[in-house]
Amino acid sequence: MPQLVGQRCVHCRESIPSELDSRFCNACSSPVHNPCAARAQGDRPAGSCPACGAPPAEAAARREAAERDAR
Ligand SMILES: [Zn+2]
Ligand SMILES: [Zn+2]
Repeated sequence: MPQLVGQRCVHCRESIPSELDSRFCNACSSPVHNPCAARAQGDRPAGSCPACGAPPAEAAARREAAERDAR
């Protein structure tokens, strides 16, 4: 399990201080604040992550990294 605290949220680029209001996206593995993900889902560009609203490039990179780590 990767460490969530200390990662940077893909939306606001702020570091994540606590697991309480943040999570790893279950679709693309991006670290996100829950409020940022909720906000991004309301207004997300085409191709962004359907689960957390991460930008397309970020979501793809995270997905690839997650798949690499799984091996
Ligand atoms: Zn954030
Ligand atoms: Zn995501």
